Amino acid sequence: MGIVPELSLPAGSRASSPEARAVMRANRRRDTTPELALRKLLYHRGLRYRVDASPIQKIRRKADIVFSADQVAVFVDGCFWHGCEVHHRPAVKNADFWRQKIAANQTRDRETNDALRSAGWMVIRVWEHEDPIAAADRIEQAIMRLRETRTPSGEARGRRTAREAPKPPRRTMISREGNPDLAIRGPAGGSSNHGSKR
Ligand SMILES: [Zn+2]
Repeated sequence: MGIVPELSLPAGSRASSPEARAVMRANRRRDTTPELALRKLLYHRGLRYRVDASPIQKIRRKADIVFSADQVAVFVDGCFWHGCEVHHRPAVKNADFWRQKIAANQTRDRETNDALRSAGWMVIRVWEHEDPIAAADRIEQAIMRLRETRTPSGEARGRRTAREAPKPPRRTMISREGNPDLAIRGPAGGSSNHGSKR
């Protein structure tokens, strides 16, 4: 379906072997039934999202459901490929091969989580076996909580300025060192013990 970015990657850039690439592609199968059910629920709750998209350009990993403005990335993980403890049954044939593949997927999942989180994103992972309604609840609640703190409206405005608070002190420090600022402040500052600012 459409472009498969992994195919256009230079050999060995991410996946070191054709098998690993095949696993990753299979791994990234989109529009699975649980995922569609979840998306439908989220849509009906008024949430809008991108599907099968990279949350961040520099991180070449796609999430299944991406809320760009809220910086929330949702992954719907298949029980087999991601090694769900409830449903993953170890393969009988080529057991070692598959164990390694699943382990590699899990490592990759953790790396993706770390990369996104350190870029300020929230990562939500949903098992394909999870009840879509419960999953939708979880996602919706997380987004609403984020919006309370992040959205630049009403109360949040105050918080926003509070978050930028580190800047003014820095400026003050610079101006204290800089002569021009001292000169400007000088006259007023002389008697400022009365607290003209208060
Ligand atoms: Zn499962």
